Amino acid sequence: MDLRFERRCLLFDLGDLEPVPARRLLRVGHAFVSHAHMDHFAGFDRLLRLCLGREKALHLFGPPGFVDNVAGKFAAYTWNLAPGYAADFAVTATALEEDGSALTAAFHSRRRFVREGERRIRFEDGVLVREEALTVRYATLDHGIPSLAYRVEEPAHVNVFKDRLEAMGLAVGPWLRALKRAVLRGDPDDRPVAAPGRDGTETVLPLGRLRAEALLVTAGQAIAYVVDTAFTPQTAARIADLARGVDVLFIESPFRAADTELAALKRHLTTGQAGRLAAMAGAKRVVPFHFSPRYQGQEEEMRREVETAFRHPM
Ligand SMILES: [Zn+2]
Repeated sequence: MDLRFERRCLLFDLGDLEPVPARRLLRVGHAFVSHAHMDHFAGFDRLLRLCLGREKALHLFGPPGFVDNVAGKFAAYTWNLAPGYAADFAVTATALEEDGSALTAAFHSRRRFVREGERRIRFEDGVLVREEALTVRYATLDHGIPSLAYRVEEPAHVNVFKDRLEAMGLAVGPWLRALKRAVLRGDPDDRPVAAPGRDGTETVLPLGRLRAEALLVTAGQAIAYVVDTAFTPQTAARIADLARGVDVLFIESPFRAADTELAALKRHLTTGQAGRLAAMAGAKRVVPFHFSPRYQGQEEEMRREVETAFRHPM
């Protein structure tokens, strides 16, 4: 998920990261892993390799046992050279329990990625990240093992009218990020804001004037990410709750609608179930993915099955 204005990215699962450009991966500060099956975690190495030698902090979240999973990744390599790197790459791994309790530990390149500072923490109401620009929360689903689903939400969305800024003689640039955050925080109208002019000078304007003339605040957007889960009354209720009213629900649909028994056996969803869950949640749009390779060439039919169940839930 590319938060362009924030110049940062969020990752959901660390699957095959080869198609993701390095410049995007380098902007990742938080990655949210559903579970540690290989196809959701094998991409960790690419991210690690890219970040090595850079001053960077990476926060990883995952299911119970996840701190061991991350420690195991580091244990696979030899780090005698790492303390010599000029910059420290710091990784925090947090393993989330169903009840909001969690185990967290840190790993630093300058100390050869030994596990340190391990402690128990708590997250209230499933909220993992709460910042001015976004909130991230999780829910625990059932894939035979715990599998985590995530929701990202903006409290509000601040649009900038570049043409109006230009008409005011102001330049676009990084200062707009701070301006947006000030608006999202609800800072007072008379707060002075230093704005760079197009001619290189600096003007100080009240926040209220910038808001009135160059910004439009609209409702924030929300997305949810749901993968690798069985369809049970409990998971259905949790998905509907987590994904309530999202703009886009990204949801796995590995099995065709007719193959419910097979899907149940593998603790996965069918296309029909994915579409119904999107309808139950009141999602505005559903994007299915994670189709099983057994249906190669049938992706269009599978998308149609999801859409039909979404539009006409039984
Ligand atoms: Zn899995």
